[in-house]
Amino acid sequence: MERPIYLDHNATTPVLPEVIEAMRACYAEPYLNPESQHEFGRRARRRLEEARERIGELVGAKTTGRDADTVIFTSGGTEANNLALRGLIGDRPPGRLVTSALEHPSVTALTDDLARFGWQIDRLGVDRRGVLRADMLPEMLRPGYSLLRPDTTAVSAILGHNETGVLQPINRISAACAQHNVPLHTDATQVVGKLPVDFRALGAATMSFAAHKFHGPLGIGALVVRHDTQLAPQLFGGFQQAGLRPGTESVALAVGMQSALDLWHEEPDARRARLESLRDDFERAIRDGWPEVVVIGGEVARLPQTSNLAFVGLERQALFIALDQAGVACSTGSACASGSSEPSPAHLAQGLAEAEISSALRFSFGASTTADEVAESSRRILRVCNDLRQRKEG
Ligand code: PLP
Repeated sequence: MERPIYLDHNATTPVLPEVIEAMRACYAEPYLNPESQHEFGRRARRRLEEARERIGELVGAKTTGRDADTVIFTSGGTEANNLALRGLIGDRPPGRLVTSALEHPSVTALTDDLARFGWQIDRLGVDRRGVLRADMLPEMLRPGYSLLRPDTTAVSAILGHNETGVLQPINRISAACAQHNVPLHTDATQVVGKLPVDFRALGAATMSFAAHKFHGPLGIGALVVRHDTQLAPQLFGGFQQAGLRPGTESVALAVGMQSALDLWHEEPDARRARLESLRDDFERAIRDGWPEVVVIGGEVARLPQTSNLAFVGLERQALFIALDQAGVACSTGSACASGSSEPSPAHLAQGLAEAEISSALRFSFGASTTADEVAESSRRILRVCNDLRQRKEG
């Protein structure tokens, strides 16, 4: 097989050597249980809290003062999304949630489950470019919009889409939420560590992300909670993280997350420019050899690392398999649906043509992707596309 090229960084990213070293140092120290009252525990606690504060700062949370926000460590983005929505709901009887057709399965599967227990789930629409219809929200939040469930408990909206990369109008969404005093959760899992994120400026009550999406370790995510937000725990145990997410915290994972964010923060503009340039070169090369290609989300502001392409005329599952054999790793949909042949709910909501939906693949780049890999992968993709077309026609 040809040298494999990894273009699936939205699924997960390789851990950078500096992050591995920072984590190794934690294990070598060793940092023990940060909850213990003795000196070993206190040292671990200091290092953990230092990481927590720095992570909060880097994503725009307020980390000091009486109105400081909280950073809760979780196992990843899925748990952070679940904690946010279930935590905002607390023990309220079934009411109404507004979410969107673009959410990750960790939000949609949860809201599907809530619907089984009587919650009304209303979904914000999406325009043809892949942008959430923020203009619909004021009307959806108006008391009396729903006769059965007049009050909205929370709104959940993704910040940057995992498949198309399209950046969403969260400020317009949070403005409507603020007007109606409804807490907003935003899923920033694909954005943190790729673009500057200012939690306070977004106007959200909670925000989720995960270290493994920005060259940090798998196994740790975070939920930032604004100081005035009431959140109910979903796990029960000890007093760790103010009882909101009990369980012994891992200093090494928190330090790994901090290290990965720090590395990004040393050069955010350079990383963004590099990713955008790799993505643009990639799309240009594909378009030159396959003019029918459609760049989904290409007309609007996108995450720099994401290229969602529809190879109209081909079938994405066959293309995905042939590319895997040719040593190009990409994805047919969201990370959780990678390899699935179901049409993408986001593409359906966006109203893409059937020929586009059934031929779309996601390519995503990372800090270690090289220009050579981009050039080589586009050659292989074009070769595979042409082979498949010939086979189809012949
Ligand atoms: N939210 C978004 C937008 C994602 O892309 C992902 C991962 O693919 C998640 C949430 C889930 O994160 P994790 O895999 O860390 O649970």
